[in-house]
Amino acid sequence: MTVITSFLLMQMVTVVSEPIIHPEAWFSFILIPALTSGLVSYSIETIRQTFIIRQRLAKADKIEAVSHLSAAISHEIRNPLTTVKGFLQLLGEKDYPEEKKKEFIDIAVQELNRAEEVINDFLTFARPAFEKEEQIEVDKELNQVLNVLNPLANFNGVKITKKYSSGLVILGDRSKFKQGFINLIKNGLEAMPNGGELIVQTFRTGTVIHILVRDTGLGMTEEQIARLGEPYYTTKGQQGTGLGMMVTFSIITAMRGKVEIKSQVGIGTTFHIRFSNLLDEK
Ligand code: ADP
Ligand code: MG
Repeated sequence: MTVITSFLLMQMVTVVSEPIIHPEAWFSFILIPALTSGLVSYSIETIRQTFIIRQRLAKADKIEAVSHLSAAISHEIRNPLTTVKGFLQLLGEKDYPEEKKKEFIDIAVQELNRAEEVINDFLTFARPAFEKEEQIEVDKELNQVLNVLNPLANFNGVKITKKYSSGLVILGDRSKFKQGFINLIKNGLEAMPNGGELIVQTFRTGTVIHILVRDTGLGMTEEQIARLGEPYYTTKGQQGTGLGMMVTFSIITAMRGKVEIKSQVGIGTTFHIRFSNLLDEK
């Protein structure tokens, strides 16, 4: 098209002036625009392709992670199911004393709870990034999270201190926000088996909303911090799933939040989360 328009232009010039006979002029007027527009369209096409490929890669990445996890998680769920099945069979075979029966049932329920926990963690991870954009009243939701975790705090002898700035609102999925902070704060409580203090602080600077969760627990080494969020990374043996932080990070990232971790072994850990998707005040 550029060749044709350049050619027509050259012909039109002859109407008002003399025909152009210099070969250089023909060369530059017809070839250079054509080459340039060719180059430009080629670049645009390349950029577009790269963009599409990158999007596809991100999706493939997620699918791969999910399918990889599915296999591992099926395995993780099969174990408790086998245990429960075993106990049910035992209960059916013989008439055990009440006490023994109760013990069997307790273990079975514990195993089922664990399976449920694994499935819950996994579902929060596998679900698409955002379903809902609702207004999250930060202090209200954090209070709910702390209520859920209160029994654990009491059990570990942990004092919970709240330092909220009131009226902070961000946009995102409310139940995911809670899930993310339950995982995060639960870790803090679990890091203080012999008591301590958990401080939850919120404040705002400019357009950024800060949430700080600080514990006076075991703390982590640099290496532990680096591995945080890796699937199945846990230092809690059978008690841990190693999925909690992975879920928390994926939720916070989906809400375009940033996490900064400071920790000292034996002193404690601070998670500093920054959200900038706050609601514009009208
Ligand atoms: P889980 O709690 O099931 O072990 P997580 O993904 O929630 O799995 O946490 C992974 C690991 O990170 C924990 O096992 C623990 O070693 C470490 N960790 C997380 N939060 C803290 C914290 N506040 N203090 C000390 N260690 C922590
Ligand atoms: Mg955890």
